Amino acid sequence: MTSLPHNTDVLIVGSGIGGATFAAGLAESGATVTILERGEQLPDCAAARDTRAIFAKGVWRPKETWRNARGVPFSPGNYYFVGGNSKFYGAVLIRYRERDFEALEHADGLSPAWPFSYGELEPWYARAETVFNVHGRSGEDPTEPPRSTAFPHPSVPDEPSIAVARQRLKAIGLKPFSLPLAVDIERWLARGRTPWDAYPDTRCGKFDAETGPLAIALASPNVSLVTGALVERLVSSSDGRQIAGVEVLYEGERRLISAGLVVLSAGAVNSAALLLRSANENCPTGLANRSGVVGRHFMNHNCTAMLAVDPRQRNDSVYQKTLGLNDFYFDDGRGGPPLGNVQLLGRITAPILKANLRLVPERLLARLSAHSVDWYLMSEDLPNPESRVRVEGGDIVLDWRRSNMTAHRGLVARMREMFRAAGYPIILTRPFDRRTPSHQCGTVRFGDDPDTSALDTYCRAHDHPNLFVVDASFMPSSAAVNPALTIAAQALRVADHIVAKGFAA
Ligand SMILES: Cc1cc2nc3c(=O)[nH]c(=O)nc-3n(C[C@H](O)[C@H](O)[C@H](O)COP(=O)(O)OP(=O)(O)OC[C@H]3O[C@@H](n4cnc5c(N)ncnc54)[C@H](O)[C@@H]3O)c2cc1C
Repeated sequence: MTSLPHNTDVLIVGSGIGGATFAAGLAESGATVTILERGEQLPDCAAARDTRAIFAKGVWRPKETWRNARGVPFSPGNYYFVGGNSKFYGAVLIRYRERDFEALEHADGLSPAWPFSYGELEPWYARAETVFNVHGRSGEDPTEPPRSTAFPHPSVPDEPSIAVARQRLKAIGLKPFSLPLAVDIERWLARGRTPWDAYPDTRCGKFDAETGPLAIALASPNVSLVTGALVERLVSSSDGRQIAGVEVLYEGERRLISAGLVVLSAGAVNSAALLLRSANENCPTGLANRSGVVGRHFMNHNCTAMLAVDPRQRNDSVYQKTLGLNDFYFDDGRGGPPLGNVQLLGRITAPILKANLRLVPERLLARLSAHSVDWYLMSEDLPNPESRVRVEGGDIVLDWRRSNMTAHRGLVARMREMFRAAGYPIILTRPFDRRTPSHQCGTVRFGDDPDTSALDTYCRAHDHPNLFVVDASFMPSSAAVNPALTIAAQALRVADHIVAKGFAA
């Protein structure tokens, strides 16, 4: 990690999935690339595998607060380390389904078409799977899109209790599939016998933005990473057309760094907030915001944890998270609209339950957890211009208008039926709350029309030819699968495009 330069060819704000993968895509280009990351490298210490420290004490959560639409402050589950949110992710690196790129009618509205088809992104999906060492198996999921390559590694094996769950689900006619995972399970377990979902990665077997693409990028002498560098605003040229550079707070001082290309990869909430905070005389509503869409269309999946409990059967698994179900992804199984994706959570143990159910004695929770298989139900959130990130008095205000809850309630009801049919008589559910923007996206949407989108289909700002936004912000719809592989694939596609154009602004 290096000190701050005065200028650079390409300046990337943020080392998460978008920023790090984009940097990997430019590694061989010969351009000088500087990544500014506000966080530091996540330290390896006991708290990294301490379930109580992570879930009850929240030791890794940021100190900052955002406000909700009613002005109430909350602590968001949004992580600031080298590698960004992916340090904590469940490492499910799954492609959007082919029809996710098309307009799709849902119970409560329309999921819009992307400006290009699945086929356009497919070659970069394949490359992204290599960059992240995805472990998977084809041919089990009927919604799986066509692939030009095999998975780079075989799937992570089911533990014995999960193999039983797989058989039970198959027996009632469902089609469980092996989740595509960016995990080397032997290395992960060698550091500590815990799940990886929501546990921070100290470079021990999870392939996240730091251990995957950032490691590739930093192997090139042209790419450097500066940590503890908080970008506060972007500065535009006197006519407002170009981005001259960024203002950064580093070691207690405010500095200006100039750059040929500026790439914003701070995550969907922070990238939008930065553009809004950078308003000036020429761009009074914020940069890249002639259309007025910056900060709007905030999406985050609608999710519920579902514990399927069979008092006669123990679940002795450690990591658990190897199965998914897309049986109700495109319809409810009875000719009705799409419901969503179902996948295993990382193993839910008594200390995790206790962090959420503080009044229940932990020994009861331990008995419950010993017999439950723990699932994550995820439905698409539809874009709504009133669902938005704003900046008020310097603070981030997140006014998330949830949508498509009919589909999500339908998914919960359908899976309750299915798990009961599969021999789990007790079903317990808990919805995920609004303070966890894990799958945030959509706030700086791309599209062909500068009147209704902020970016073109290569994530270049319609208003500023040397500004790109390469993170979850660009997505015009959220689909109902995990977003990181799609962000990474688009980052590689954008990097190739910029190199092919010779970095011309
Ligand atoms: C607990 C959890 C589990 C998840 N599981 C999965 C999963 O299984 N599969 C999946 O696909 N997705 C998962 N996700 C979501 C996934 O992590 C995100 O979609 C992905 O990381 C988003 O990439 P990004 O580039 O948009 O932002 P991020 O990866 O969050 O990167 C943003 C980066 O910018 C930095 N930054 C922000 N502001 C500034 C600033 N002003 N100056 C400098 N740097 C800044 C941040 O510190 C961060 O490093 C999960 C997320 C969480 C929290």
